[in-house]
Amino acid sequence: MSIRDILCWPDPRLSRVCAPVAEVTEEVRRLAADMLETMYAAPGRGLAAPQVGVLERLFVMDTSWKEAEPTPQVFINPVVTPVGDTRVSQYEGCLSLPGIAVDVSRPDTVHLCWTDLDGQAQEAAFDGFAAACIQHEVDHLDGRVTLDHVDADQRDKLIAQYQKVSA
Ligand code: ZN
Repeated sequence: MSIRDILCWPDPRLSRVCAPVAEVTEEVRRLAADMLETMYAAPGRGLAAPQVGVLERLFVMDTSWKEAEPTPQVFINPVVTPVGDTRVSQYEGCLSLPGIAVDVSRPDTVHLCWTDLDGQAQEAAFDGFAAACIQHEVDHLDGRVTLDHVDADQRDKLIAQYQKVSA
């Protein structure tokens, strides 16, 4: 395993729509292992393949490792569907936007279908922090970042703040 470089916004690779993973090969498993190692080292709770420059639809997540035993999860070709009408707002950080947090409103509960590392189809419901994290990572696979969730004024302010902290 090895730690990969995390791209920072506005790298153009973070604005591209990623392609589905055609098959779960040894290379995909190696990528997932590298992404988990990179995420833990960062340190973060989620990381999407385009953040390490691979424009394919997979992400890794571990929402609780900072407080409890690590529970690494890998989601390949994830498809997310909101459940119900409840939305929640919370400040989200992003390893590709170091130094800023953006207040993002999202559905509180989602249903997720994905392929696991054995190539098997999986599905489950998620709520709370995990649901927000999943939607954040799936956004990356569609070329979106947290800044794309706020209005133009707020976006300009956040970009100015980002440029200041990353200068
Ligand atoms: Zn992110």
